[in-house]
Amino acid sequence: MIQLESITKNFGSLQVLKGISFTIEKGEVVSIVGPSGAGKTTLLQIMGTLDRPDSGQVWLNGTDVSRMKEKELSAFRNREIGFVFQFHQLLPEFTALENVMIPALIQGVSSSTARKSAMEMLDFLGLSSRVSHKPAELSGGEKQRVAVARALVNHPSVILADEPSGSLDTQNKEELHRLFFDLRDKLGQTFVIVTHDEDLASKTDRTIHLIDGRVVSL
Ligand code: ATP
Repeated sequence: MIQLESITKNFGSLQVLKGISFTIEKGEVVSIVGPSGAGKTTLLQIMGTLDRPDSGQVWLNGTDVSRMKEKELSAFRNREIGFVFQFHQLLPEFTALENVMIPALIQGVSSSTARKSAMEMLDFLGLSSRVSHKPAELSGGEKQRVAVARALVNHPSVILADEPSGSLDTQNKEELHRLFFDLRDKLGQTFVIVTHDEDLASKTDRTIHLIDGRVVSL
């Protein structure tokens, strides 16, 4: 569950978020839409604790993360939140398996446990035949699925995705969208997806419209 209360954020004299409040329930798949520059990515980064608001509060699963110290926060983030970006951001020198193992290793589990969790997640996403491939040896859709496996390996309760299908063709885009709903149905995670894709947005449980740093509809 994600709760935002009166979030503001400025970059210099630019007021990017002007008092954002909403709640996203566990297991919801929610899209955030709005024109370029509306503040969607900034809001997602704040929800994901990658950035801090200037004022206001963020609760994730009942914890007020706005007040957490950085060290505690990074452990919390690694455990509770998975991120998927437009450009998969896989490390090119590592295999698919190694890329997916990284968040588990950061979490402090043994290498054999990280390998087992990563294998399970890759298998779950239909990638067991691709575990030894490096990103350059994978298709665009496969790379994005590896990035989803990496986001899920620690079984976070919240997945935050920023234009996750932005670099994919129509077929891969549809598959990725289906995958998010499958995952929610099977694993119960909460998904928040920033998108310009009206088609994806129309299929989510709820759409939050942001214009000029304000929520215009929930
Ligand atoms: P898009 O759809 O184009 O990705 P967005 O709605 O996600 O846009 P943001 O990326 O949140 O918008 O940016 C909102 C505004 O804040 C923009 O005017 C942007 O230039 C500005 N901005 C974002 N990050 C920073 C930063 N680190 N420093 C200064 N300005 C920033």
